[in-house]
Amino acid sequence: MSIQNVNSFVAGQWIAADDNARNVYSAVTGELIARAGNSTLDIDAMLDYGRTVGGPALRALTFHDRAKMIKALATHLDQHKQSLYDISFATGATQKDHLIDIDGGVGTLFVFASKGRREMPDSHVYLDGELEQLSRNGTFQGQHICTSIQGVAVHINAFNFPVWGMLEKLAPTLLAGVPAIVKPATATCYVTERCVQILLDSGVLPDGALQLISGGVGNLLGKLNSQDVVSFTGSAQTASALRSDPHLINNSVRFIAEQDSLNASMLGLDATVGTPEFDLFVKEVIREMTTKAGQKCTAIRRIFVPESQIDAMIEVLKSRLANTIVGDPQAEETTMGALVSNDQKRDVLEKASMLAVDAERVFGNPDNFNVDGVDASKGAFLPPMLFHCATPDTAVNVHDVEAFGPIATVMPYRDTNHAIGLLNRGQGSLVASVITHDADIARDVAMEAAAFHGRLYFNNRDSMKESTGHGSPLPHMVHGGPGRAGGGEEMGGVRGVMHYMQRTAIQGSPDILSKISQKWVPGARTIKRAEHPFTRTFHELELGETLTTDLRKISMNEIEQFAHFTGDTFYAHMDDAAAKRNPFFPGRVAHGYLLLSFAAGMFVQPDEGPVLANTGLDNLRFMKPVQAGDSIRVQISVKQKTPRNQDYGEVRWDVSLTNQDEQLVATYDLLTMNAFKRALTHV
Ligand code: NAP
Repeated sequence: MSIQNVNSFVAGQWIAADDNARNVYSAVTGELIARAGNSTLDIDAMLDYGRTVGGPALRALTFHDRAKMIKALATHLDQHKQSLYDISFATGATQKDHLIDIDGGVGTLFVFASKGRREMPDSHVYLDGELEQLSRNGTFQGQHICTSIQGVAVHINAFNFPVWGMLEKLAPTLLAGVPAIVKPATATCYVTERCVQILLDSGVLPDGALQLISGGVGNLLGKLNSQDVVSFTGSAQTASALRSDPHLINNSVRFIAEQDSLNASMLGLDATVGTPEFDLFVKEVIREMTTKAGQKCTAIRRIFVPESQIDAMIEVLKSRLANTIVGDPQAEETTMGALVSNDQKRDVLEKASMLAVDAERVFGNPDNFNVDGVDASKGAFLPPMLFHCATPDTAVNVHDVEAFGPIATVMPYRDTNHAIGLLNRGQGSLVASVITHDADIARDVAMEAAAFHGRLYFNNRDSMKESTGHGSPLPHMVHGGPGRAGGGEEMGGVRGVMHYMQRTAIQGSPDILSKISQKWVPGARTIKRAEHPFTRTFHELELGETLTTDLRKISMNEIEQFAHFTGDTFYAHMDDAAAKRNPFFPGRVAHGYLLLSFAAGMFVQPDEGPVLANTGLDNLRFMKPVQAGDSIRVQISVKQKTPRNQDYGEVRWDVSLTNQDEQLVATYDLLTMNAFKRALTHV
């Protein structure tokens, strides 16, 4: 069998492994299958290429351009994933495991692409929060903005998800406009290398946006600066060694860590044998123990069950685990493949012996189990192993030792408070799950345990059909955890993009803030034109383009008519004495909705034109009551423009209603969809 040469991709060149390369072995046969690493990689060239070629090219793109690029990458990868499936079997993973790693990675790219388009502006600056009023007259205001950092993102990844592990970091990094240098774990780097080849072959990425180091990183970390980020996934031990590097500390290099975690799952007190929750709990535990042969950072390691249910639970878990078919990952009937390597298997067995100090092994014998279709003595196979610890309060190792394989420990608890205390003994975890149909139990856990866990997953009969699983980090939700889990956060939608951006407080005049933020700020320069803004296309409209109407007087008759027409005869509009008794009103007042309706009638241009639809109002505030005899005037200004597709985009208008004394009556943002073309025969 030929030994694969796993390349690195440095400054636009593929660099082969050299004599100092590391060996990579098949998880299934134990044979040497690849060699990875080159001790003479030009780290300076790599950093320079990322910083001076990749970074500027990515930063020239808007968030929407980057989102489209990520979508194109996802589509291309989806079309070429078969070759990833084919080589991933050698990592010990089954086809079902590939769906998590490979399809899960593609799905993550799609979600970030969609979030970039929907939740970020079509510009280069992301606004964090609202304007801050820093002065009485609004001539000096504040806005927090986020811009791309100008260095590189170094992604150091764990072996267990060679594709998803790269893509879940790459998507937010690219969306932020930052180039990545990916360093996969050597044990599975041949899969990541193939994935990088596919991504580069797509032709979608600008030069320098993605580089790859297979094997060791040399002195890369010693050359990073404050514009760079290290995003690490792996063991607590490696994280601790890397994050304490004096160069990284002295240069305040950002360091995000996702490390090991003693995740737990708790069966609620309400979930007794025979309830849907009991069965659901069993299903979740079995899935977490056997998927990827338990090599998932989020896998359930500690299982907490009410003491009245513990015997029944152990029996059911044992009978379900007995159905596990360990064997050739390529065989369809196999339900659990191999661990990634024999080194990993040795490590897991060593950790299992540490768990045995506190707990008794009640299922799975590593010295006697069936392996189907392959030579068990060569590959890194293990059976699922269930431990029972009857004394979780005094036990230490079960709350402290992560056996990164198909191993979990079941433990009894007395009441919810006791269970919460045990959940939190993991010293900070990525995820804890609670299977309960009792919302009070869920709230108690959330109040007392959320601070110790990056994610709390509640599931029961109501949500189980659509739930995503204890162990699935989702691109929409934060993945990470406090304390032992590394204290980091990844993903979480746009939150994950912010790790690769700098937040800056901007203070200045409305004109300056408008220009920087690409969002018109009240008080900034307005543009008046002869044409009505509703006759202008999306692209013709400029920020600050403003229409101011004449005054319109409100009569009592109109208030009456509106009340009876709509049925809104609330006393503040109908009964003068009652309205006066109310602290907010001087007497009968016009309906707020009447004012909005009049406002629409005052600013609208009724002819068929580029405005396609009114899609909503945001931030509506009624500030001052309007009575019969008062007048209102409307000012409408283009505040922000966001393309939505090839044909039209959303225009956000700042709308203010003032009375005859120029006092503010109401403000809101009006949202319209505006066509790119004037001729509307077909959009
Ligand atoms: P690891 O041994 O700590 O390695 C993690 C990564 O660090 C690998 O890419 C490794 O490269 C690299 N590395 C090691 N020493 C380095 C150094 N001196 N400089 C630069 N890079 C270095 O962890 P692993 O065995 O791959 O992964 C298993 C662990 O990861 C488990 O503890 C698991 O809980 C954790 N994990 C956590 C998450 C999460 O999201 N929290 C996800 C997956 C896994 P080499 O392979 O070349 O040594």
